[in-house]
Amino acid sequence: MKMDTLCLHTGVEIDPVTGAASTPIYQASTFHQADWDNPPPYDYARSGNPTRHAVEEAIAKLEGGRRGFAFASGMAAITAVFLTLPAGSHIVACEDIYGGTFRALTRVFARLGITTTFVDATRLDAIEAAITPRTRAIYLETPSNPGMQITDLRGAVDIARRHGVLTIVDNTFMSPYLQRPHELGVDVVVHSATKFLGGHSDLVAGLVTVRDAALADDIYFIQNSFGAVLGPHDSWLLLRGMKTLAVRMKQSQATAQRLAEYLQGHPKVRRVLYPGLPHHPGHALHMSQADGPGAVLSFDIGDAAAVRRFVERIRYPLFAVSLGAVESILSYPARMSHASMPPEERARRGITDGLLRLSVGLEDADDLLTDLEAALAAV
Ligand SMILES: *Cc1c(COP(=O)(O)O)cnc(C)c1O
Repeated sequence: MKMDTLCLHTGVEIDPVTGAASTPIYQASTFHQADWDNPPPYDYARSGNPTRHAVEEAIAKLEGGRRGFAFASGMAAITAVFLTLPAGSHIVACEDIYGGTFRALTRVFARLGITTTFVDATRLDAIEAAITPRTRAIYLETPSNPGMQITDLRGAVDIARRHGVLTIVDNTFMSPYLQRPHELGVDVVVHSATKFLGGHSDLVAGLVTVRDAALADDIYFIQNSFGAVLGPHDSWLLLRGMKTLAVRMKQSQATAQRLAEYLQGHPKVRRVLYPGLPHHPGHALHMSQADGPGAVLSFDIGDAAAVRRFVERIRYPLFAVSLGAVESILSYPARMSHASMPPEERARRGITDGLLRLSVGLEDADDLLTDLEAALAAV
């Protein structure tokens, strides 16, 4: 099956009880147990709920994992994976990492004795050099945010296997439609399903998929023990969003490529970060491990004053955090997602005061281009 078909035919698309074309929202916390000697498949909804089960099966199919797990947010999903690590573990993570994951690692897991070394993950030698005898996992995002840096996933898996450590990839920016890390040997895939998988800026959700059966049991154990599960209604919204993942990704990506090329040639734009541009340093590597460059790009228009004029003039994109929605979303990393990062650290990572990130939605490409043109004229 091709991905477009798989988005619709995950094997759980029809309700087994009624034949309904859409998995019902099983709004129930507990389930009748007629015979306690033969426990039913569902007993209590923290442990399992049929609507959540459908979305867990769907993501497992799309990512090519053995099992999937749905959580109340991307951070709950990511945290659940870290909670499987033993006390005293060390993690090697990409330095261009999602802010919430940075906070969880440096301010929560550090308290529990799980430490992290952040490295420039575009360099495999830097990843390998950071591994210590206590290292249990390599945590990666590719493309990264907002720098759009590319990590060699096959190379990272190779290093991890040689050192006997897990590989965990946050696949939020690509979605399984464009990149399936399990196929490259990655052990654990995590998602903020709030973004492309949900796709409509109407829910917060997280997903995990794994290849190994024992690790799957452990993630399930953590999910049930900590209880940050996705509710039935949000599970249903997510299932609905995932059905149109392929068409949304395709159109948004085509528009993103066009906008990136336009911005690249604009005299007021200093640089464009998008793996679909041939001059992007990770272009060839990215295209060797993903099916497309995606729908998110970053571009630099100089300084904070220019950004203010641009944002005052732009009409269609929502000016907000988040990404991966039907509507385009423009965000300002220096003042939004990375505001809590010290300025010198931001500068070191290329998150300048002129950098904007655009998540391209489903608006007409000509309309978006005209909108960018007008806003740039005001800069
Ligand atoms: C949004 C995001 C997260 C966190 O997910 P939530 O659903 O907001 O908890 C993690 N990683 C990436 C790359 C994200 O964009």
